[in-house]
Amino acid sequence: MEALTDNVSLVLDGELVEASTGARFDTINPTDGTVLASVAEASVEDVDRAVRSGQVAAKKWQRMRPSERARHLIRFAGLVEQHGEDLALLQTRDMGKPIRESRGIDVPVMVETLEYFAGLVTKIEGRTTPAPGRFLNYTVREPIGVVGAITPWNFPAVQAIWKIAPALAMGNAIVLKPAQLAPLVPAALGELALEAGLPPGLVNVLPGRGSVAGNALVEHPGIGKITFTGSTEIGRQIGRSAADRLITASLELGGKSALVAFGDSSPETVAAVVFQAMYSNQGETCTAPSRLLVERPIYDEVISLVVEKVKAARVGDPEDPATEIGPLVDAAARASVHSYVTAGVAEGATLAAGSAAEPSSADPGFFFQPAVFTDVSAGMRIAQEEIFGPVLSVLPFEGEAEAISLANDTIYGLAAGVFTRDVGRALRFAQTLDAGNIWVNSWGVLNPASPYTGFRFSGHGSDLGQTAIDSFTKEKSVWVRLD
Ligand code: NAD
Repeated sequence: MEALTDNVSLVLDGELVEASTGARFDTINPTDGTVLASVAEASVEDVDRAVRSGQVAAKKWQRMRPSERARHLIRFAGLVEQHGEDLALLQTRDMGKPIRESRGIDVPVMVETLEYFAGLVTKIEGRTTPAPGRFLNYTVREPIGVVGAITPWNFPAVQAIWKIAPALAMGNAIVLKPAQLAPLVPAALGELALEAGLPPGLVNVLPGRGSVAGNALVEHPGIGKITFTGSTEIGRQIGRSAADRLITASLELGGKSALVAFGDSSPETVAAVVFQAMYSNQGETCTAPSRLLVERPIYDEVISLVVEKVKAARVGDPEDPATEIGPLVDAAARASVHSYVTAGVAEGATLAAGSAAEPSSADPGFFFQPAVFTDVSAGMRIAQEEIFGPVLSVLPFEGEAEAISLANDTIYGLAAGVFTRDVGRALRFAQTLDAGNIWVNSWGVLNPASPYTGFRFSGHGSDLGQTAIDSFTKEKSVWVRLD
């Protein structure tokens, strides 16, 4: 695969090509700051070519039998599995995620997602409705055409497949603009799509700038739907542009998720789940439980267990299978996370693990010591804003009313969870937590068959599960007069 080399092209209309302008950018290995590869940087003209090639490819794709389309997706899944080790290493090198996660989570999730959607291709059905008089009314699900997808750098592999698989399964072509900070796995997936025999132009992958290629994609008249995952700020801009063009946009945005631990839950289990869910991927996870709300009776014990785990965490080379926390994605991310640690100290929270010292710019990699803040109060910035790094804020509470009010007290609504042995309370919380993904006595479980969406400033619209049928098709209503 060319994406494994140090010179990576656009995947456009079935070919690996240079950008029309000849422009390139470097992608950096965050472990040591070295250049990993030079990547072609898509222009506005490249986006236009890709959309036009997608229009042709989508027609070819739609003419195939559904079972044939399904077989193509199964072949694609097989190739992803076969190249899993290369894809895992590429992702880890490009953005710093520990290899055990790239191998153990991201690769299997990609394969499972492609297989799930391959299964759905043959099950997309219309309806007949109880029509009045001598009429027959039925509906058909039609593909949208060309989908524009824009993805972030924190789960570059899974996010690309979460867009490609449902878009293709519903009969569409896709133009994917991956994040500039981690374009290599998406480029590799574009190549594998070609190897799987998908029509040229069905999957175009155009690394480049958000403000250029991303913006051109959102504004292109040939795009029938935008699926975006990224920050709330950019998501709002994209939502506005899509609204101007009257096309739909699914927006999977930021989060500041609360995990609520009641006094009847096991402090050991809570600490183990929080450590895993909060610090995996260096905390650069949209659903990270970055606010831990603990009921007073177990507050001290949970804190001491979490702090113990965080202090013992193996931070280091993400290619080492023993590493639990790799580097942050770049110097800007490290500076931003550090500024939150400084803010937390200034706001009067207790830094129970981690350090507020300035990260040394002499360090070649962008490593950041994982941190825990205790005695955090709801109004502090570290309790309200998405930090997107390994920084946990712990808040105490007493009783259900205070817990629910704290849990719902941010602009976000991506995920939330409750730990309790009381079934009634668990169900009350599942109802009243205002977030798109709720976990009871667990955190972070996902499955392609299940929708995945945010509420409020975490966005709207799911690309996964059967919801994808609504999301990636148009329902047409046909009326037939029978006499
Ligand atoms: P980002 O919003 O900066 O960038 C996301 C993508 O948008 C990138 O490909 C970028 O190039 C592109 N972009 C930037 N400006 C654009 C513009 N004007 N027009 C079109 N495209 C543009 O986000 P990021 O830093 O890559 O990712 C981190 C964010 O993503 C966090 O806020 C995180 O919570 C969120 N995220 C959400 C989910 C979810 O499922 N809800 C999953 C992963 C990440």
